[in-house]
Amino acid sequence: MQRFLLKLKIQTETALFIGGPGRTLPLVDRSIEVDEFGFPYIPASSFRGRVRAHLERLLKTLGEPVCTPPRPESMCPHNEEVISSGQAVCRVCRIFGNAWIPSSVVFSNFKLSELPNKSFAGSLGKALWLRPGVGIDRYLGTAEEQKLFTLECVPSQLDRQILAFQGVIEGWLSKEDLGWLIGAIRMVSHLGGHKARGLGRITVTLEDLMFWDEQKKTWNSSPWQEILEEALQNVR
Ligand SMILES: [Zn+2]
Repeated sequence: MQRFLLKLKIQTETALFIGGPGRTLPLVDRSIEVDEFGFPYIPASSFRGRVRAHLERLLKTLGEPVCTPPRPESMCPHNEEVISSGQAVCRVCRIFGNAWIPSSVVFSNFKLSELPNKSFAGSLGKALWLRPGVGIDRYLGTAEEQKLFTLECVPSQLDRQILAFQGVIEGWLSKEDLGWLIGAIRMVSHLGGHKARGLGRITVTLEDLMFWDEQKKTWNSSPWQEILEEALQNVR
């Protein structure tokens, strides 16, 4: 087990969807929140949920048994498929935890790395961009009557700056599990809802990976590419 710290940057390629109509969507679809000063940020749970979903999909594709949320009774340590593979807990639960197992990683919120013009601090209305939407009938593929609504978005740029959010992931993992976590992080290309409308496209950059040296009491940078390659080597 290694104590590690990953520094990440998330840049918006398109506007990010916040909430509405009526802000009734579940929290998990809320890609952006606004802090007490009116600045948008990406909640830890939003990015974390995406990384977890990508890791589940990736491992399933490669034939590694993983349990199936959200039913707690079919999740580790109760999942038959995982147990019969000789593991007590699948890799996803080992990293992210679940109702019974503590998580090995902590995600921070992602805050704006450069604050746009202070003038809009506190004036949430300016930061938001209202985008009209039309309800499409899923079966007929036509616009539904009376279904014109407004989507609340954060635009991809404020004061002509692309929005860049910074945050960290910390924890204790084996190098192999860390490699898989990095692989899943690099697959995340969208946050929040309304992907089909072109909203929520992001670029994630791994800015730094550091390991804690317990003897010297210092953090040491290490190339994340090597950790990723080592994990993937066992697949081939
Ligand atoms: Zn599991």
